Amino acid sequence: MDTTGIRFIDDLDLSDQRVLIRVDFNVPLDDGKVTDDTRIKAALPTIVHAVEAGAKVILCSHLGRPSGPDDSRYTMEPVAARLAELLDTDTLLYDMEVIFPEGIVGPDVEELIGELKPRKQVMLLENLRFEPGEKGGDDDFAKALSELADVYINDAFGAAHRAHASVYQINKFFDRHHRGAGLLIRKEIEGLSRLLQRPERPFVAIVGGAKVSDKIGVLQALIDKVDTILVGGAMAYTFLKARGHTVGDSLVEEDFLDQANEILRKAQGKGVEILLPVDHRVAESFDAQEGTTTDGVDIEPGFMGLDVGPKTVSAFVKRIDKAATIFWNGPLGVFEKEAFSVGTFSVARAVAAASGFSVIGGGDSVAAITQAGLADSVGHVSTGGGASLQAVEGQPLPGIEGLRANHPFE
Ligand code: AMP
Repeated sequence: MDTTGIRFIDDLDLSDQRVLIRVDFNVPLDDGKVTDDTRIKAALPTIVHAVEAGAKVILCSHLGRPSGPDDSRYTMEPVAARLAELLDTDTLLYDMEVIFPEGIVGPDVEELIGELKPRKQVMLLENLRFEPGEKGGDDDFAKALSELADVYINDAFGAAHRAHASVYQINKFFDRHHRGAGLLIRKEIEGLSRLLQRPERPFVAIVGGAKVSDKIGVLQALIDKVDTILVGGAMAYTFLKARGHTVGDSLVEEDFLDQANEILRKAQGKGVEILLPVDHRVAESFDAQEGTTTDGVDIEPGFMGLDVGPKTVSAFVKRIDKAATIFWNGPLGVFEKEAFSVGTFSVARAVAAASGFSVIGGGDSVAAITQAGLADSVGHVSTGGGASLQAVEGQPLPGIEGLRANHPFE
């Protein structure tokens, strides 16, 4: 990924400026509490940088998929509470107060921003998706947001693949000396660039998850870049069926058998090795609490494959051990259930132990490496599943393109 024409937060003068930072606080909630604050923590370096530079910091993000402005399930209030806990004396020399105004844009919010006390208070705006103009990429909403601030910083890598008002159109309303990327976006660009530009070989990709149809683009792109692709998860059964194996009642996307075959042929033509599972952990239903291991690759009628088996794990781990570059997206089985989590956690441990440079993208694989307590042993853990896949596919990310100095905003 190319940083030409992009300024970063530390290139900009923030002192006494009103600085609007678009963060990705799209966190899971349960019963009005944040259950995983990884994304809030990932934005802290940028927030702390702006606070310490003496800026009036205004944070904004989307949260979930609210049905409208009154959908109180998606209020940012619990996020504001967790942020206030994190911005304490462990992170900064002082406790910060988080101001949470009613409304998102307009004169009342502007007045509160005027009164914000640098180094003592930050503001978090209400869920941007309460305004239909956010998802609609509406210029008027982008302009109203821009009027809250003198400087705009985008640090929401998780939303960078969306052309939404607060990550894309808003750039039009700040000149190049008053807009830039935050420290998280810089870290993401550095990690993904090391993966995609002249990666050391062998380059091994591990792709799992539910559907082939979601990953066609990324698989096609990976064939042009990697030496080996290890395929697991439910998507493996579409490939196995396409190759003529029996897969019992496993999930198969019948409409994608031809595309699966085409991917296998393309890989063969380019000398890229695609490894499919050679054995499985199976059960009679999705709800089963226990599984059995198959002898080989075929699955009997009445059974469904819910995890890769031990022979597959050992073949995959051998490739991962020898890799100089690794990319992993998607679980290898129904890892949410202990009985079918062995494949995913074995791969997580192998990726963490490997000497090669590794990048993990995507919610579930990131959750697995975090649950295993191994996230610190990985080269780069991406905070954006969709955004990192789009970058691997070689597609431009609107949230990053918009920051470029001479971007035309088509
Ligand atoms: P994705 O969002 O495409 O990465 O898919 C993640 C989901 O795929 C997880 O919730 C897994 O439980 C599910 N999954 C992985 N392997 C299987 C499998 N063999 N059968 C059914 N679901 C699976």
